[in-house]
Amino acid sequence: MLFIMGITQGRKDFETNQLMTCSLCGAYGRYNVFMTYTVLSLFFIPCIKWGKRYYVETSCCHTLYELVPEIGKRIARGEDIKIRQEDLTRVMDGRSSVKVCQNCGYMTDEDFDFCPKCGKRL
Ligand SMILES: [Zn+2]
Ligand SMILES: [Zn+2]
Repeated sequence: MLFIMGITQGRKDFETNQLMTCSLCGAYGRYNVFMTYTVLSLFFIPCIKWGKRYYVETSCCHTLYELVPEIGKRIARGEDIKIRQEDLTRVMDGRSSVKVCQNCGYMTDEDFDFCPKCGKRL
């Protein structure tokens, strides 16, 4: 018997209409909430989901935050929850464009054209 298995990364966006003043760029923006997860598919049918993580991206400068799971789960259930600054951990600053080397995973926010570690084009 042949099993066709696949592991893929999924993403789900949630509708929120929460307005805020961005603490980074000072503009009025909106929080876009989304969840990422890993899915195991059998015969191309997703059957197990795990490793759920919740993120928030600001609509102004696209700064990425990780959201505490408790709040994320409640938003996923459709509850109207106010996201507070304390619930967020900054993952990526939208203003600095972080480049990640596809070859070795080296991360830099400098404006390099080539990876300083392995020499591949970024
Ligand atoms: Zn901003
Ligand atoms: Zn590299």
